[in-house]
Amino acid sequence: MISFSSADTESALDSLAKRITSNSYIVFFTGAGVSAESGVPTFRSIDGLWEKFKPEELANFKSFIKNPALVQAWYRHRAEIVNNVKPNRGHTAMADMESKVATCVVITQNVDNLHQRAGSREVIELHGNILRNYCIDCGVQFEGDLLIENGETTLCKCGGLVRPDVVWFGEMLPANSFRIAEKHARKCDLFISVGTSGVVFPAAGLPTLAKSSGAFLVEVNTEATDLSSLMDVTFQGKSGEILPKLMSLLKS
Ligand code: NAD
Ligand code: ZN
Repeated sequence: MISFSSADTESALDSLAKRITSNSYIVFFTGAGVSAESGVPTFRSIDGLWEKFKPEELANFKSFIKNPALVQAWYRHRAEIVNNVKPNRGHTAMADMESKVATCVVITQNVDNLHQRAGSREVIELHGNILRNYCIDCGVQFEGDLLIENGETTLCKCGGLVRPDVVWFGEMLPANSFRIAEKHARKCDLFISVGTSGVVFPAAGLPTLAKSSGAFLVEVNTEATDLSSLMDVTFQGKSGEILPKLMSLLKS
């Protein structure tokens, strides 16, 4: 692994830009960090009202069955945050990459819809989308956030509990999305991990798969992570700063 300080970030970005050609096949593998600059809290950051709850304690099926109104209220709060923010320069840079190379795919662990709003067309959502909900009994889909705001539990017409269409701790990933993500990890020549701590499996296994299939691995993160030692190059910094710089080198 080669790590760059800010002093030589420019030249490292320059050599990364030189690797990227119109034939490149790029995967961006993203996590909560890419949305931090938009104002969406990561699971580790402190989130006012909800500070006293650990995400692991709310984002699971058992807690939902035990106290559906509480879990729904937490998701309503998070959906509200997401609806009130905008994609940032990092999201936009990743969307712009689509027009520069043969194939560019975003594989995201985020549930916030910000990649799509930034204009990315090829987005694989590994953990679902917070803006969709469905009934756990009849399966009917609800678009929009979890409706009721009076502290009561939101129920479907059939009487079933309505839950967000996200993958909770202990649940399986959507099989089709993960299969497609694995295919891209195997086929890409550049795998760029952005704003993820790389601790949530099986998603965090994708960089290893890409590496063993011959991809060049790049990390953009404000801190070293569990994935850093696997990387060919790591950039320590904000995705909203590093990625636009990379794009400007491609434009020139
Ligand atoms: P994480 O919270 O575990 O890690 C976030 C990573 O982003 C950290 O390594 C941190 O150093 C880095 N980071 C913070 N700000 C950054 C910036 N400006 N630029 C680059 N990197 C930055 O997040 P995770 O790895 O995605 O895993 C947690 C799980 O939480 C995921 O499964 C995800 O579904 C869920 N989650 C999603 C959202 C969202 O959709 N926005 C928000 C919170 C949690
Ligand atoms: Zn129903």
